[in-house]
Amino acid sequence: MTEMIDPFDRKVSYLRVSVTDRCDFRCVYCMSEDMTFLPKSDVLSLEELDRLCSAFIRKGVRKLRLTGGEPLVRRNIMSLMHNLGRHLKTGDLDELTLTTNGSQLARFAGDLAKSGVRRINVSMDTLDPDKFHKITRWGKLDKVMDGLKAASDAGLEIKINTVAVNGFNDMELDEMLGWCGDQGYDLTLIETMPLGEISDARADQYLPLSTVRERLSKNWNLTDIPYKTGGPARYVEVGETGRKLGFITPMTHNFCETCNRVRLTCTGTLYMCLGQDDAADLRAPLRASEADELLESAIDEAIGRKPKGHDFIIDRDSNAPATSRHMSVTGG
Ligand code: SAM
Ligand code: SF4
Repeated sequence: MTEMIDPFDRKVSYLRVSVTDRCDFRCVYCMSEDMTFLPKSDVLSLEELDRLCSAFIRKGVRKLRLTGGEPLVRRNIMSLMHNLGRHLKTGDLDELTLTTNGSQLARFAGDLAKSGVRRINVSMDTLDPDKFHKITRWGKLDKVMDGLKAASDAGLEIKINTVAVNGFNDMELDEMLGWCGDQGYDLTLIETMPLGEISDARADQYLPLSTVRERLSKNWNLTDIPYKTGGPARYVEVGETGRKLGFITPMTHNFCETCNRVRLTCTGTLYMCLGQDDAADLRAPLRASEADELLESAIDEAIGRKPKGHDFIIDRDSNAPATSRHMSVTGG
């Protein structure tokens, strides 16, 4: 079995899978209020998702992250999690994890831990219940808090993902950092990215993390650390709490040289780069045959087209999204 090495000699070892484009929230930077979702018939079954993920694992993927949309609103998602957990037991996979908005965690945290999940990312942009409702349009903070507690009780390590939104949570980030320290969570801050049409203007939401870091440095002792995941995050250690703080800065930093990941949508489309439209359809070869040869050669062909990098720009003259896909389609 050939490993996945792209034309720029980068080894692909990380697969992110969007298991649904649907969500029980409508975060203002991610979705419009009246989203049109994919017809269910276009979406891969859980068995097909398992077959695809397993093919990638055979081809060298060591880390698998389920995302969405909201992965935990997909019906029977725990059966997929549980089945994928078999690759942890055989040692073919190092990590199985997910990114969630936390709304369903109180129900599922125990089962996630039983499937072999050790760490999860939970997205949360504010600690204020009214503001939380405002930015998610539909979300309730107390449910997410219950979910976080259930996840901790189940022994899951937690990283909070916070999108830095200008004029919304910029003044609250000190408080979030302190709160994460108290709870024993790492925190990663994300710059807003120009993905998909939404109703609010992007340029108004954009807050460069260089500015955020400068502000946080006034109150916290931040030391660069070499911790790397092959993704766009750069990490510092927070002296006062001993926790990690990550900055995901696709807008101000180029991280493409070390990119080790590809993204699969719930319809079986493989995106080789988050910021570019080029994609490969894996659903047709998946469905064309019960054996996996066609699928595996389609994967090889796609990896051979992985582009060198992306080019995101948000400014007032160019408010158009870099790609027409929403983050909820490609998976964050
Ligand atoms: N629903 C899950 C959640 O919210 O964690 C998983 C999917 S969500 C698309 C993954 C991550 O992408 C979240 O942390 C979210 O805040 C982030 N995100 C969504 N749209 C974004 C955008 N336009 N720019 C930057 N981050 C975005
Ligand atoms: Fe849903 Fe996550 Fe997008 Fe918010 S960021 S609307 S929770 S998919």
